[in-house]
This record gives sequence, C-alpha cells and structure tokens, in this order.
Amino acid sequence: MAKTALVTGIRGQDGTYLGKFLLEKGYRVWGADRRSGDATHWRAKRLGIESDIHHMYMDLLEYSNVLRTLDRVQPDEIYNLAAQSFVSASFEQPIVTTTINAIGVLHLLESIRTVNPKIRFYQASTSEMFGKAQQTPQSETTPFHPRSPYGVSKVFGHWITVNYRESYGTFACCGILFNHESPLRGEEFVTRKISLAASRISRGKQDKVVLGNLDAKRDWGYAAEFVEGMWLMLQQNQADDYVLATGESHSIREFADLAFSKVGIPLQWHGDAMEARGIDSSGVVRVEVSPDYYRPAEVDALKGDATKARERLGWKPRTTFQNLVELMVESDLQYDSVV
Ligand code: NDP
Ligand code: GDP
Repeated sequence: MAKTALVTGIRGQDGTYLGKFLLEKGYRVWGADRRSGDATHWRAKRLGIESDIHHMYMDLLEYSNVLRTLDRVQPDEIYNLAAQSFVSASFEQPIVTTTINAIGVLHLLESIRTVNPKIRFYQASTSEMFGKAQQTPQSETTPFHPRSPYGVSKVFGHWITVNYRESYGTFACCGILFNHESPLRGEEFVTRKISLAASRISRGKQDKVVLGNLDAKRDWGYAAEFVEGMWLMLQQNQADDYVLATGESHSIREFADLAFSKVGIPLQWHGDAMEARGIDSSGVVRVEVSPDYYRPAEVDALKGDATKARERLGWKPRTTFQNLVELMVESDLQYDSVV
C-alpha cells in the first residue's frame, strides 16, 4: 500500500522539492502550511505539483492543531521542514524564531508519542549549528557553537529529536544540512538575491545590488538533490543523524563573480570589506556593500564532511558550484517576473 507522508513547510523551497520527490515515489503527500503563508503556490506551480499535494493548515505553534493533524492524516513519515529559516530575521525576532524552531519540534514529537509512536520523523537541522566552527570540515561529531538565535533554536530542535529517539525509541533522524539553494530559494537569501540581481541588471531592470559580508564562505549544494537524502534517512533500519554537504566552500564574492559572468557582465573588484565594489567593464558599480546587511555575529566559513551519508545512505551531491550558480541565473532570466 502507498505510504503517507506529512511535510511541514510544504510551500518553502525544500518542501516543494520533497513533495515532488515523494509523489514520484508513489507517496500520498499531505502538505501542511500556516494560513499566513504565500497564497500563490508559485513554487508548486513551477514544479507542476500544485494539484497533487493534499493541503491542510497547520501552525507548529499550536499544539492541539498539530495533534489533530497527525490524528487525521495518520502519516507513516513526517518531514519537519517548517521553520523561521532566515538567520538575519532571527536577530530581530529571536522569540518567534525560537518558539517555531524549538517548541514547534516538540509539539510534533509529543504528538507522535500520543497518536502513533511508529511514525518516522525527520528534523531539518542545519550547519548553522556549527556556527563558529570548532573544526574543518564539519561532520556529525563536530561540537556546536551557534552564532544566531536561529542557530541556537535549531540546536534545541536537534537535541530534543535525539532525546526522543533515545528516551522513547522514536524513529527520529536529524539531517544536518549545509546550505542548499535553487531557483526556488527565497529572495532574501544571498544566492537568490545575487542571481535575481544579475538577471535584472543584464536586462536593464536594476542598476546594482547592495550586499553585506562578501568574504563569508558557505558549502552550497543543490536543494533538489538534498531532499533525496532526507528520504533515505527515514528508509534505514536504524534512525540516525547525517550531514549532507558538498565538501566545497566558496565565498559570496565567488558566487557573485560567476553569476555576473553568466549574464555577460564580468566584474572587477576594488577595495576590501565594507569598501568593496564590483565594477563592470564600463566602470559602472554593480555590487556595493552596506553595513545594513552585516549581522551582529557572523558564521565566517562552513564546509561539510558528508562521508557518513555517502557510505551508509549511498547519497552524494552531483551538481557543481558553477552549475548551481548558472542554473539559478538561467531560471531567473526565464521567470524573473513571476515572483
Ligand atoms: P523556507 O523558509 O523556504 O520554508 C520554510 C517554511 O516553513 C515556509 O513555507 C514557512 O511558511 C513555514 N513555516 C514557518 N513558520 C511556520 C509555522 N509556525 N507553522 C507552520 N509552518 C511554518 O525554508 P527551506 O525550504 O529553505 O528550509 C527547510 C528547512 O530546512 C527549514 O527548517 C530550514 O531551517 C532548514 N534548513 C535549510 C537550509 C537551506 O539551505 N535551505 C540549510 C539547513 C537547514 P510561510 O510561508 O508562512 O513563512
Ligand atoms: P545563511 O547561511 O542561512 O545565513 O544564508 P544567507 O544566504 O542568508 O547568508 C549567507 C551568507 O551571506 C552570510 O554569511 C551573510 O552574512 C552573507 N551575506 C552577504 N550579503 C548578504 C545579503 O545581502 N543578504 C544575505 N541574506 N546574506 C548576505
């Protein structure tokens, strides 16, 4: 019989890719989102799955709502992707962020205990938990040192998931995912902000883009490939935690270089840090830096070691950094006006 999955955060980047992946595997997919979310379903439309997902409203903040949802859907698997996922916003809204990202996880775990302890659970943990990284590359055994309310809230979500596995035998897995991007990434994240800007600047719709710390480095993979790793974790005989990452680390400046080259505007860089500017061949400033986009505490560099996922799950990323930048820019050139 077909399995049933409940995906929280179904309208987000990962929810949309995972929804499509599970449908292709023959799952009956329930997508939960809070009513305040995006009403256009633009991501689901982009992947052509808007009428295949069973939608329902569920806010992670309301325990009774979560409990009733599980009771009604009776899922075999739950993928908890819902979160206040933007690090910058977490400095402005630490309490909301923590309530959703920490207590929300507990609402789901408690509901699983109550409704059906056999439900398998995936928690979206993050490389932001490594923060001021204690070693490079980071693996499942690297100590956490989060640098934002977002990172701290996710550490709670991570450990409470591990705790339910150890205390009650819940089949609960944490995927410690390094940054993963795509044409469906929110525009507030730096990769999509750059790909969209490069596309618009190349068409004369925008003059320049203003960014923050260009020297930060991230391990960026392709979201469509990372959702398969989430699913693989829940198909194992034993629940465990896994890092998913590419093992490569690149700076924001490198991302911008590739994105602007892709649209035929190679950049020359002048100045450092706050004074940095990216200038095109006619001397026009296309990238500028503002302190407005700096964070009170920064995660300088992340680079993941996904050996365990490769060896035990058979998972590995396929899309290179350059291909990722190019596919995001190509998509923005094609769909620019949609979002
Ligand atoms: P998105 O921000 O694109 O999606 C998150 C979704 O969660 C949104 O649709 C949002 O709905 C929903 N949501 C927020 N608050 C609530 C709530 N109280 N109740 C129900 N739903 C809520 O994130 P991604 O798809 O990029 O990421 C998925 C998960 O993976 C997140 O938990 C994120 O923290 C984590 N993660 C992501 C990484 C990445 O690089 N993308 C890296 C590591 C971890 P609304 O539209 O209403 O805001
Ligand atoms: P994060 O890794 O989850 O915080 O993903 P983001 O895409 O939001 O940020 C990645 C890195 O880009 C961080 O180190 C930011 O400080 C840096 N950055 C530089 N300029 C910007 C910007 O304009 N917007 C965002 N979101 N991040 C920026």
